[in-house]
Amino acid sequence: MNEVIEFFQQLANVNDWPPRWYCGRWTDFHGWLYILSDLTIWLAYMAIPLILIRFILVKKGVPLSGVFVLFGAFILLCGLTHLLDAVMFWWPAYRINALVRFCTAMVSIATVLALIRYFDEAVGLRTSKEYDRELSFRQQAMQELTRSNEELQQFAYIASHDLQSPLKTIVNYLTLLESKHGEKLDTDAVRLINVSTAAAERMRVLINDLLDFSRVGTDIDFQTVDLNEVLAEILEEHQTEIRLTGASIDVGPLPTIRAHRTDLKQVFQNLVTNGLKYRRADVVPHIRIRASDEGNQYRFTVSDNGIGIDSKYYDRVFQIFQRLHGRNEYPGTGIGLATCKKVVDIYGGQIGLDSTVGVGSTFYVVIPKVIKTSQHYAQTHSLYPVN
Ligand code: ADP
Repeated sequence: MNEVIEFFQQLANVNDWPPRWYCGRWTDFHGWLYILSDLTIWLAYMAIPLILIRFILVKKGVPLSGVFVLFGAFILLCGLTHLLDAVMFWWPAYRINALVRFCTAMVSIATVLALIRYFDEAVGLRTSKEYDRELSFRQQAMQELTRSNEELQQFAYIASHDLQSPLKTIVNYLTLLESKHGEKLDTDAVRLINVSTAAAERMRVLINDLLDFSRVGTDIDFQTVDLNEVLAEILEEHQTEIRLTGASIDVGPLPTIRAHRTDLKQVFQNLVTNGLKYRRADVVPHIRIRASDEGNQYRFTVSDNGIGIDSKYYDRVFQIFQRLHGRNEYPGTGIGLATCKKVVDIYGGQIGLDSTVGVGSTFYVVIPKVIKTSQHYAQTHSLYPVN
């Protein structure tokens, strides 16, 4: 123990040994070969950890960075022992040298243990060639998916579009029938015409909603959209319902973002009109629209004081054609919230709600400030063209 204490007390004392030049017989050539080689090794050993540190800093998220750090420390200490070996030709610091060697030994053991421990994980890391193969495979899969998605979208669009024209004919003929032969028809026949017209009207709404659903997210030509203007437009378009229900709509200051105007309008329009539609009987609807800045994203909330939604349906309401109420209770197609979700998903955001039955609901929409859809990525970040 005394030796240890004395060792540290005398750590920098170099009087117990002669400088290495005077220890044995060195020729100039031999001594300088030794010194210069040690200094060169030291310089190279200094450079390696610096390169490793730069690598870790530049390539953020390097796996097993702890092993890199240990390895860097190990190399640095090895370099230090070589520097001391050269310096000892004039300054015989054998104690400091021993201490540095001890530290090197400890760090080298830790490095060996870390390498053994992480060996399997390191073997599991993919090489750049394996990454290349996987990337091009994924890219092919993504292109295939985009193509079949576009086909499906196109199908939904054409089907809904083409259905509109026979439907118009049916409605026109029904109206004609009633206006031309109305007096000759008995009340039962008029009732049948009215039921058919109402059914055709429902179908028109359904087709329009389907068209909107299939259209959203397809146009990635973004423009600057002032959401205050969008909301003002929505309220203007729904003046009649607002006046009839006596609803109060409180819109907080909203941001301007780069996106597709119609897509964003669809989202807010569906949320606001649902707030008006799913109101409680005898309760004047109050809808509150707010936006908050959350760093790299915006959080929008649309709150109402309507009938509310049971928490077990929070996911279901965003699925297409899922309705919680009968058509006679509240009219609708069950496409509105699915459309909102489609837009928000394509924009890389989130949509959800919080609600209390009989009190009201708050729908939230989180959208990144800089919106990039997978189509944008496919255009701008395409790494390898897949033929
Ligand atoms: P639609 O309103 O055409 O039925 P949506 O997709 O907009 O279709 O909504 C799906 C279902 O979610 C609605 O049928 C309704 O039951 C429920 N819902 C939507 N918004 C609200 C709301 N603000 N308050 C209560 N229920 C709602």
